[in-house]
Amino acid sequence: MRTLYRKFITATLLILGISILIAFILANVVYMNSTRGKIDQQNVAIAQEVASSLEQMHSTTHLSFEAYLDSVSKLGYQIYVLSENGEEFDFGEPFSKKNLPVEALNVIEEKEVYHGMDHSPSPWLMMSHFSNQLDNTVGVPFTIGDQDFGLYLRPNNKMLFSDVHVIFAWFFVAVSIVSVSGVIWFAKHLIKPITKLTEATREITRENFTFPLNIRRKDEIGQLAESFSIMQTQLQHNDEARKSFINNVSHDFQSPLMNIQGYAELLKTQQLDDEHREYVEIIDQESKRLSNLTKQLLLLTSLDQKSYPMKLSVIRVDSQIKDTVRRHQWRLEEKEIEISYHLPPAPILADPELLMTVWDNLLTNAIKYNQADGSIFIQLTQNDGWVTITFSDTGIGMNAEQASKAFERFYRVDAARKKDGTGLGLSIVKHIIELHNGTIEVESEIQKGTTFTIKLPIEKQTEE
Ligand code: ADP
Repeated sequence: MRTLYRKFITATLLILGISILIAFILANVVYMNSTRGKIDQQNVAIAQEVASSLEQMHSTTHLSFEAYLDSVSKLGYQIYVLSENGEEFDFGEPFSKKNLPVEALNVIEEKEVYHGMDHSPSPWLMMSHFSNQLDNTVGVPFTIGDQDFGLYLRPNNKMLFSDVHVIFAWFFVAVSIVSVSGVIWFAKHLIKPITKLTEATREITRENFTFPLNIRRKDEIGQLAESFSIMQTQLQHNDEARKSFINNVSHDFQSPLMNIQGYAELLKTQQLDDEHREYVEIIDQESKRLSNLTKQLLLLTSLDQKSYPMKLSVIRVDSQIKDTVRRHQWRLEEKEIEISYHLPPAPILADPELLMTVWDNLLTNAIKYNQADGSIFIQLTQNDGWVTITFSDTGIGMNAEQASKAFERFYRVDAARKKDGTGLGLSIVKHIIELHNGTIEVESEIQKGTTFTIKLPIEKQTEE
């Protein structure tokens, strides 16, 4: 996982790297366009000074010429002398490569100055300044007696890297170490409260509104933490209000309905004529329907207000459906409906209670709207990160228009079908499937049957 912390560090190191690269390129441009020429000129001036001193000495013996150049080299120069007869003399630190180009010989033949330090063929540009090769020198002519010489000279690298340069290098290393450690510390300090806020958010989805934040800062993150705490308190308050509302309403509706159902059951045991028995039957059915409607309405309202606390966990879809079938076994047998299924293991991340409502509704409908000797087939397949579940029945079916409206609230194909129902079941099912980022579709044909196809994503957490 790419955390914010790692991203922050990577970005800082990247910025550091890019700025070093840009600085290097800029320094190269400056070096190539101005510094290199100046350095070359300075060294030519020194070489000419040395050459003219040599000539002024009127010396004709090599001995004294060598002694003088030996002393100059000790001042921090690498010197190479070539006579017109091809004699070579080296002074100071030896050159790593003695590669004198043809134009450098013009120093002796034409008495021209050789500007080897102003031409660097090396791809390393600026770094070639430190190249310890003979072609990286300046050359001047001098004459002793009647013999012409070429004097090639460059400051040695020890002289270029003075103590001040070493101090600068250490300064650069120290600044880099301190700033990188500073960035790491700062990133940790910045990200820590965000991690805490993430934890607190996760706790809220688990209905824990009292997760302690303990973030005391005066910056934007401090303000965010403060607003978050206010939100926690508000959510806790809302949650309590919602729970008490649902409790009150369901209690206030359910208890009188239970009373009505109880009395209807009692009446059914009495000696009644057919007309009264029918009335009692209606009271019983309608009160059951009303009780069911109350429960469904409450669920739909809480789903609508997004106040339903989704309690996600890894659940086995196949086991849930098998449990649902088991619970409805007696109704299936009563209506002589044959049921078969193909349900391989399918774990997904979902709210178990809500998904149970889905399977319950679909199976209830498949039984309710089936025909005598009908059958139901449930199938589960998995591919490309999705679980596909189909509920097929050989029931009374719907035409295209009816099927397209089946998921609408309070829609019932034909109230005259007189099946007990509220018209809310499928709209709740669709709502729940969408809450799980899934889809539901229906295909149906009158007197042939209906197939509901549900697709649910397999979240990454379940695959790990
Ligand atoms: P109800 O409580 O009436 O069953 P639903 O929302 O579950 O409400 O369904 C809406 C309507 O869609 C039902 O009234 C019924 O007419 C139709 N329907 C649902 N499932 C099926 C099915 N498997 N076969 C035929 N019709 C169905």
